[in-house]
Amino acid sequence: MDLKPLALREKDTPIIIAGPCSAETEEQVLQTALEIAASGVKLFRAGIWKPRTKPGSFEGVGAAGLAWLKRVQKETGMAVATEVATQSHVAEALAAGVDVLWIGARTTVNPFAVQEIADSLQGTDIPVLVKNPVNPDIELWIGAIQRLYRAGVRRIGAVHRGFCSHEKSAYRNVPLWQIPLELRRQISNLPIFCDPSHIGGRRNLIAPLSQQALDLNFDGLLIETHCQPETAWSDADQQITPEALCQLIRQLTNKNKNDEIVRHIHTLLSEQNTCETERISQFSQHAPHHLSDLCRQIQCIDEKLMWLLYERMKISCELTIHKN
Ligand code: PEP
Ligand code: MN
Repeated sequence: MDLKPLALREKDTPIIIAGPCSAETEEQVLQTALEIAASGVKLFRAGIWKPRTKPGSFEGVGAAGLAWLKRVQKETGMAVATEVATQSHVAEALAAGVDVLWIGARTTVNPFAVQEIADSLQGTDIPVLVKNPVNPDIELWIGAIQRLYRAGVRRIGAVHRGFCSHEKSAYRNVPLWQIPLELRRQISNLPIFCDPSHIGGRRNLIAPLSQQALDLNFDGLLIETHCQPETAWSDADQQITPEALCQLIRQLTNKNKNDEIVRHIHTLLSEQNTCETERISQFSQHAPHHLSDLCRQIQCIDEKLMWLLYERMKISCELTIHKN
């Protein structure tokens, strides 16, 4: 794919996108934005159309929030991003001068919805970030990106926000890092972001997840930030204050960027993933369904083993640093 740069990056630092899960009131949006801008963040996020699991919960303020985003642009100088899920969202966001759009996890799973969005983006040059689908299906993620690309969208990024799982987990949405890494291997100049807020689901997981993403050379982070997180109207447990965001940005390092071990694991994971995918697709052409299922289960366990090894190596690396 012949992608154009997102043009959101400053120097060689990760691209930080921060802001509340939802725009709630004009005051909340403006206060949060002013505090975020003070820490040097250049791109503000806020959801105004919210895909909630059940009806009856807060489903976003809708188009009224677009005027608040305009004020953010004017009063803080930040660019603004919002989620779109339908053709009319796209039309309204474009008309209001929103700078960046993103497609949510529950939209990426639906090829009809993505196609509709792609069609309505024809002829525009706006950057679009595509969150992973809720299920760990890399083809569906690639398909969504291809639909945008075929419609002429050239500034595309991918966001890893974790995957739904039946298994009990410390995460709200399980991170399967090998999937975004494989995505970037297949689409080499595709910027990848991590959304530690929706992966972790809890404030205290945001810092370690963010660092892990940077260790794996992700290009940026999407971090839910709210002036009063505890009282947020959606995703209250996973939002941090602008002050905590500022501290987090200061603490994040790219120290492992060129680290031999991380690169090694990185390559291993990519290779393993490619081999396994090929093995499974060859096998499933001939094997009965339940056997290819077993094969997939082995792949899942292998991936977990690789990640445990990766975690272990990182810790022993740190130990070595302290010993020396
Ligand atoms: C969001 O970013 O607030 C959101 C709804 O995310 P996701 O699509 O990842 O669930
Ligand atoms: Mn959210």
